[in-house]
Amino acid sequence: MRVLVTGAAGFIGHHVSARLLARGDAVIGVDNLDPSGDVPLKQARLARLQGLPGAERFTFHAVDVTDGPALRAMFEREHPERVVHLAARVGVRAAGAASRGYLDTNVTGFLHVLELARGVEHLVYASSSSVYGSGTPAPFREDAAADRPLSVYAATKRTDELLAHTAGHLHGLPTTGLRFFTVYGPWGRPDMAPMLFLKALREGRTIDLYGDGRMRRDFTHVDDVAEAVVRVLDRPPSGAPPYRLLNVGRGEPVALRDFLALLERHLGTRARLNPLPAQPGELDATWADSSALERETGFRPRVSVEEGVARLVEWYLQHSAA
Ligand code: NAD
Repeated sequence: MRVLVTGAAGFIGHHVSARLLARGDAVIGVDNLDPSGDVPLKQARLARLQGLPGAERFTFHAVDVTDGPALRAMFEREHPERVVHLAARVGVRAAGAASRGYLDTNVTGFLHVLELARGVEHLVYASSSSVYGSGTPAPFREDAAADRPLSVYAATKRTDELLAHTAGHLHGLPTTGLRFFTVYGPWGRPDMAPMLFLKALREGRTIDLYGDGRMRRDFTHVDDVAEAVVRVLDRPPSGAPPYRLLNVGRGEPVALRDFLALLERHLGTRARLNPLPAQPGELDATWADSSALERETGFRPRVSVEEGVARLVEWYLQHSAA
């Protein structure tokens, strides 16, 4: 299979690419190495992919998904059979001037992908648990209303879901939107709590703890997320329109301060805390019902937070010592 993966230099994209290479697929990676994120980390993830067994089946294109003609030229050259679209401007906290960048990449970029993917077997794309907005009964199910987003980011992800429905209706494009819940693990995003906490603990720095650490997140290990993406990719939806949304979450919400306590235990150190008010745009709690994912693929995320934190700390200690 020739699989196009956008956001291949990103956290989840690089894990998905590695998994596809490991099972023998050819991976066409796309990423613009967006400078609003950690560029050296993205380059390091790409270097890792280029050193894996099967790397001869990995090609990389530094293309921006907002650049329609460049993306088209790349599609026409590479002829992907399936597409995993993960490229995005990420994070729920941006506002004001930054909103435009979110709309450009997450909506205009997504429209380009929808257009160019016509004729592929299946387009799997990243949505987010943030689409559930405020007031959703927990655990969140895919059929709950998702029309009260709390951030521009969440609004762009919900827009993508609606546009995917339209593409299914008008052009018969099979799509699955995956609503990921707080993904963590090796090679993780430095702007997210797990890596922020880990780094600050190791360096003895004070940790900004928003909302007093009571906020609960359904932490989901990236190995489970990559497995879910690949299983879903193999199973395009067949309905009319061929459109589907699936939660990808462990179903085990954990308070941020409890996640931090696990990190402290594994590192044998105590955090110095700077309690701060909760940030606008953040949900109080997220909690996935992933039974639809299990029904469709026979798989549900299984790495417990205890196990996932142990693996994360082990990787971090090895990696930071290297
Ligand atoms: P990430 O920032 O590590 O990866 C996204 C990648 O997209 C980056 O490498 C970035 O350079 C690239 N990118 C950004 N703008 C681009 C553009 N215009 N053209 C081409 N590439 C571009 O983020 P991630 O955590 O790996 O997230 C992957 C996807 O999953 C995103 O769509 C994100 O919104 C979604 N998601 C992630 C989480 C999570 O907890 N990590 C939760 C919910 C949803």
